[in-house]
Amino acid sequence: MATAKTITGKRRPLPLITPHPKKRNVYEDVMYQFNKAADIMNLDPGVRKILGTTMNEITVHFPVKMDDGRIAVFTGYRVQHNNALGPFKGGLRFHPAVDIDEIRALATWMTWKSAIANIPFGGAKGGIQIDPSQYSFSELERITRRFTFALGNVIGPDYDIPAPDVNTNAQIMAWILDTYQSMMPALERQRMLAVVTGKPIESGGSLGREKATGQGVVFLIREWAKEKGVDLSKTSYIVQGFGNVGSWAARLMKPFGSVLLAVEDVTGAIANPNGIDPDDLARYVKEKGGVKGYPKANPIDHNEFICTKADIFIPAALENQITAETAPLLQVRLVAEGANGPTDPDGDKILNRRGIDVLPDILCNSGGVIVSYFEWLQNKRSEFWDLQEVDCKLYKKMVLAYQRVRDTAQKFQVDWRTAAYIVALARLEKVYKERGIFP
Ligand code: NAD
Repeated sequence: MATAKTITGKRRPLPLITPHPKKRNVYEDVMYQFNKAADIMNLDPGVRKILGTTMNEITVHFPVKMDDGRIAVFTGYRVQHNNALGPFKGGLRFHPAVDIDEIRALATWMTWKSAIANIPFGGAKGGIQIDPSQYSFSELERITRRFTFALGNVIGPDYDIPAPDVNTNAQIMAWILDTYQSMMPALERQRMLAVVTGKPIESGGSLGREKATGQGVVFLIREWAKEKGVDLSKTSYIVQGFGNVGSWAARLMKPFGSVLLAVEDVTGAIANPNGIDPDDLARYVKEKGGVKGYPKANPIDHNEFICTKADIFIPAALENQITAETAPLLQVRLVAEGANGPTDPDGDKILNRRGIDVLPDILCNSGGVIVSYFEWLQNKRSEFWDLQEVDCKLYKKMVLAYQRVRDTAQKFQVDWRTAAYIVALARLEKVYKERGIFP
């Protein structure tokens, strides 16, 4: 494999344009969930065909000059699943396991998520197949800008609006915005602010967007606790993934007195039976890059993490973590899915059989896209809302979505994931029936 020097002077591999040697195909899982819900609700056969496929799929290969002067070629994707309800919307992921099927799955989930949250967006997702830790800051900037250039008019503030996802953040969004604006005629540049959401505040971002997904997860855990008569101050929880979603969810659970017992991320897993302070851990992770070595907890292995007895499990890392192998080992009452697709269909069946409650991803982690919608609205109207307004509006939308899914689960006597799909599919079916198919 080709290598190049990092800023630390170490040699490291250049990207390979080959599929990552993984993994269960998550797109098949999405289609399984989709078909199950479509059968139960008797979805219109024509609408089923439309929603059972993606609208547009773009793969780009683009060259970037590395710090040592050599050229590397990267592979990026943008998949647009559906825009019946509004512009395509969805994050960008930088990860070595990114491939077209993963992006298809994530794009499709975005369509359902926007429909359940009742916001006027469709679904899309994109990404680049790289391990960003292997690149310098300036290389990442050039990779991001050149990817934006390669996408060209595939994105746009009224057409398709990216946002952060795994390994992307407000800085990456600022580079995309700047590159996109620079590609426009001077007179149009200021209208382009809404081309991405999750921007830094000073560059047109919204207060509350950074914590929004974790905030939404915690709002729904509170609803669940209220309905089940659970006193959160007497509960404990474990979190997988301590990035944007996991760390914010963990920190926002703290004021309710719930105790964080164990955390796992890509660097390892840690536990402390007396509790871990999520704010202190977040400071450590910011400095060290991961939970490994955190001095106020003990290192544990993956199996011990999964088997930790707690009330709530918040998966907030990657797909396929709760499977036929791990689902029987979980010792929790609730799985609140911060991540997209953390539970595969085999794992799901086991959770249902064991009576473990699930707040499914397309409901539970929709706080991010909801506040992205608020950011988009603020950009369009040249407004800037205060945090209380953002949080209040987010809370209302999340609770209404929760109630819609709960009522649908009761009506159809199905699990919450299937109910969430039915809510989304029913809304889209209605829109297609009202509008018909052109010509
Ligand atoms: P992030 O890059 O900020 O954090 C990812 C975390 O996952 C890191 O702590 C990383 O160490 C951990 N991780 C990666 N591989 C792992 C592994 N094999 N085992 C254990 N931990 C691992 O990403 P994020 O934005 O927090 O996204 C996390 C999940 O939430 C993803 O599924 C994403 O699609 C979903 N999500 C994110 C948002 C958002 O607003 N950022 C919104 C909705 C859903």
